[in-house]
Amino acid sequence: MNKIIDDKELVDMLKQVDEFTLHVTEVIGFCPKEFVYRNVDNKFGIFNAPRHISSKIGTYVHKAISDFLRGKQVDLKKYEKLLDGDYYIEFDRIYNNFLAWYYTYKNKLSGIKSEISTSKKISDKVTLVGTADLIASFEMHSAVFDFKTSKSTRYIKKYEEQMGGYAFMFDNIQRGYAVILGTDDFNMIEININRGRSAFVAKLEKVLDEIEYIINGGNIDTSVSFICGMCNYRGLCDGAKIIREGDGE
Ligand code: SF4
Repeated sequence: MNKIIDDKELVDMLKQVDEFTLHVTEVIGFCPKEFVYRNVDNKFGIFNAPRHISSKIGTYVHKAISDFLRGKQVDLKKYEKLLDGDYYIEFDRIYNNFLAWYYTYKNKLSGIKSEISTSKKISDKVTLVGTADLIASFEMHSAVFDFKTSKSTRYIKKYEEQMGGYAFMFDNIQRGYAVILGTDDFNMIEININRGRSAFVAKLEKVLDEIEYIINGGNIDTSVSFICGMCNYRGLCDGAKIIREGDGE
């Protein structure tokens, strides 16, 4: 059950958090409220907001991809039980487009590492954390791949910033690719990783200023945007009104 609490109560709880984490994905389109909800939740475990169905499909696709890349059995029957009819069909089509991508590029990939996490302390109180979907050698270059279950390429600039964040977090990344997995096909787009890294670092500096403001007692604003579709705390704020815009970011 959701526990709805007001900003005053949130601030009181926030004061009891000693160390904050910030996700690479959170930096892009930063929402102060999400940052606060998540850090308070990490400490107190009080929220259980309903997830958007697109976010659920994206999570399950990523889990299935990770299991596949790690050589584990992918139990599709399990996903069929977790997702209702049409949603399972959507999941299945996206997953099959991942397989089509994988078998297209299999011979160019080596040293595959799936769902790799890392962290970096970036201020006295804040640690940046990130998980890359796939890091591998691709055409003799160390590359990061991000699987997107959105059907749209309109967020490509955001993908560039996000993957620039992975280049900032992981050593020696030379190339980046967004692999857009739709229900009909896949589309692999090379990202300008250096430009993305610069954009990410510039954004990170602004976000750190905002965090400083919040933890020193400033207002906790919401920032309703494309990220709400993937936010674990939708349902607790206006982000719940975002229906499809944030599909599978
Ligand atoms: S749903 Fe949107 S507005 Fe609400 S906390 Fe999440 S990102 Fe912020």
